[in-house]
Amino acid sequence: MAELPAFNHTSLESIADISNTVRATFHTHKTRSVSYRLTQLRKLYWGLKDNEDALLEACKRDLGKSSFETYLTEVGWCENDIIFMCNNLEKWVKDEAAPDIPLMNKALSPRIRKEPLGCVLIIGAYNFPIQLSLGPLIGAIAAGCTAILKPSENAPAAAAVMEMIIKKSLDQSAYRVVQGAVPESTALLDQKWDKIFYTGNMNVGKIIAKKAAETLTPVTLELGGRNPAIITRNADARLAARRLLWAKLLNAGQVCVSQNYILVDKEILPAFIAEMKKAMDEFYPQGAKASPDYGRIVNERQFLRLKKMLDESQGKILLGGTMDEKEKFLEPTVIQVDNVTDSLMVDESFGPLIPIYPVKNLDEAIRLANEVHDTPLGIYPFGNKQETNRILAETRSGGASVNDGFFHASIPTLAFGGVGESGQGSYRGKASFDCFTHRRSVTTTPGWMESLLNVRYPPYAGKLKQF
Ligand code: NAD
Repeated sequence: MAELPAFNHTSLESIADISNTVRATFHTHKTRSVSYRLTQLRKLYWGLKDNEDALLEACKRDLGKSSFETYLTEVGWCENDIIFMCNNLEKWVKDEAAPDIPLMNKALSPRIRKEPLGCVLIIGAYNFPIQLSLGPLIGAIAAGCTAILKPSENAPAAAAVMEMIIKKSLDQSAYRVVQGAVPESTALLDQKWDKIFYTGNMNVGKIIAKKAAETLTPVTLELGGRNPAIITRNADARLAARRLLWAKLLNAGQVCVSQNYILVDKEILPAFIAEMKKAMDEFYPQGAKASPDYGRIVNERQFLRLKKMLDESQGKILLGGTMDEKEKFLEPTVIQVDNVTDSLMVDESFGPLIPIYPVKNLDEAIRLANEVHDTPLGIYPFGNKQETNRILAETRSGGASVNDGFFHASIPTLAFGGVGESGQGSYRGKASFDCFTHRRSVTTTPGWMESLLNVRYPPYAGKLKQF
């Protein structure tokens, strides 16, 4: 078992100094050169590679995640992201010529320079503690920014390993980790930033947005999902059951983009429930508790919140429902809900609770999906092409996976983000570079143009007729 470093809060008194250091470094311009950025990215890559065991162990301790899941969704994910950045950075940083320039303006070379936004703050969430922290950091480095990362205190083992890696691998004058919870985050928000990138719940997202508004600091907010899945009568019940079950049981349901509730056409409901049961038995033949592949709820507070949600629901448990507080184990639980105001429908469970609401037809499903929360992070339509197209056309969401649960979010080069209450801004792949880049419009007026430009200077008398 890999030995892990301890998680220690950063002293509140040191936060202004750390932030001033990182800001001052940005103004030395050293992070702007492409070779500097590539060097930092490569060092981070090797820092991750060299500490894979510690990272896998950390996620096991924090969330009971299997190594397979952690590698797929966190460590390998970030490593691949770095490779993609390194392979494309030289192309992306090049100036872009303005399109369709009138002949008259060609001599000005109108173009867009890709400038780093500056000194940025990244605040991560606990559920994918590595990916949600290092993903944006990789984008910030690629864009030439300096950055402070504040990982989630609710995944302390992963936070401590990331700090160790960043300390060993990256330029400490440009990239630092601040550890802590609300007091440390608040102290960080009191500093000056050129961008704040926040992942987490909507209430804190509002705090961040308000604070950022005081100084007109731009924000990217990656917020919560209250995502519907819709299963029409023409859907393949087995396929829908297996895919949605997987999507909800990865990381024990602590996935922002997994479906929060399922709207199922009454005609297909019995087949869908039967397939859910079959899939559950297949995925966890000895039961979820005994399976090394099924995670745990991150802490007691979240466990008790989920327990309360389940206790207070008026729905009928169809599958699962057992729990073990000591282990923070919550069995994957399918509940049939008959009231759309049930908190399992309205609130984000962010755990392995799977409410199913039977609907008469597709009209009702679309109406409810729009009523419960009309700007979710994701939407998951299952049905024939005409039906799934109609669902996409008549709903809104940050992203969507047709005939699947959140698969769009697993494409590492597809921009990921919310809309409306589920967030603003996006990142991943090129979008991560863009997220921390200012597109600076520039022209250069040659001296020889002066005779042509004379027309713009007053007095204007008699000049209009020249046009
Ligand atoms: P969390 O408890 O890890 O908190 C997130 C971050 O917010 C932490 O770093 C924490 O220290 C910080 N924070 C908490 N209170 C703060 C405050 N008052 N001021 C400043 N910072 C503060 O995670 P969480 O918020 O419980 O995460 C779960 C939520 O995040 C869910 O709603 C989930 O859907 C959402 N989420 C969204 C995405 C996405 O990409 N859209 C990804 C993961 C999680």
